Amino acid sequence: MAQTKIETWLTDMDGVLVHEENPLPGAAEFIETLKKNKRRFLVLTNNPIYTPRDLSARLKNSGIEVPEENIWTSALATAEFVSDQIPRGSAYVIGEAGLTTALHEAGYVLSEADPDYVILGETRSFSFEQLTKACRLILRGSRFICTNPDPTGPTDEGIVPAAGSVAQLIATATNQQPYFIGKPNPVMFRTALNRVHGHSETSAMIGDRMDTDVIAGVEAGLHTFLVLSGITQKEEITRFPYRPGMVVNGIGDLLPIAKDGRYDPDTFAGRIRVDHAQQGTDGEAAASGSGIHLFG
Ligand SMILES: [Mg+2]
Repeated sequence: MAQTKIETWLTDMDGVLVHEENPLPGAAEFIETLKKNKRRFLVLTNNPIYTPRDLSARLKNSGIEVPEENIWTSALATAEFVSDQIPRGSAYVIGEAGLTTALHEAGYVLSEADPDYVILGETRSFSFEQLTKACRLILRGSRFICTNPDPTGPTDEGIVPAAGSVAQLIATATNQQPYFIGKPNPVMFRTALNRVHGHSETSAMIGDRMDTDVIAGVEAGLHTFLVLSGITQKEEITRFPYRPGMVVNGIGDLLPIAKDGRYDPDTFAGRIRVDHAQQGTDGEAAASGSGIHLFG
């Protein structure tokens, strides 16, 4: 593939822009560069708890200014998916405002009377009654959807069980597996691209996980950039049967591409090796091909 122009960017949030509440190096500059150069972009998260407005405010507290219309959550993707499948339908929801607001805005009615869907999101306050109701509705024919498959989530004190784990409880009780919307389902990226009128050939995604971000990006046909500022470690990358287009230390290394949009996937072709990458302050590293390239 010859040099291409990247016009649309999808970027993961945790491990790419922030770690917990702390901004990662280059994140604020990257977002500012996208805005200044009028690139279309969305910040993605599998977390369905918060509305885009909440997340925009949280990012602002971390020094990163992302307008709410530039945020895409698994709750929004779920709302778009179900309203595309069954317009103006009904759902029984276990979740927080991020999910219920998204469904309302997509024209959905929240109902316990034989709803089209049972939709499970994240909440820290599950009740036995809610779980029982969800199971009974599914057994009566409601379709089972879960916003995201993550088995656990991070907190300051350690992990908490997340939607993926609760989904397995309901799946065991009903013998019905849910359809998961969030990453690694490429539906998350496809719905995001629709939202910003992006085309896969001229769109890129940035993520910190091979097993969710990169695989979903590959399946959605996007250019993929893996940053080493989050979950996936450099040594792990070659174990996967798929590869990112490019590996960089952090999002700051992608500033030159964000700025002029030019990207040549062939720069990294034909090698399996680990270079000694320059630390991410040198903005030219990525564009000149002296970033980390494991293979290409
Ligand atoms: Mg991440």
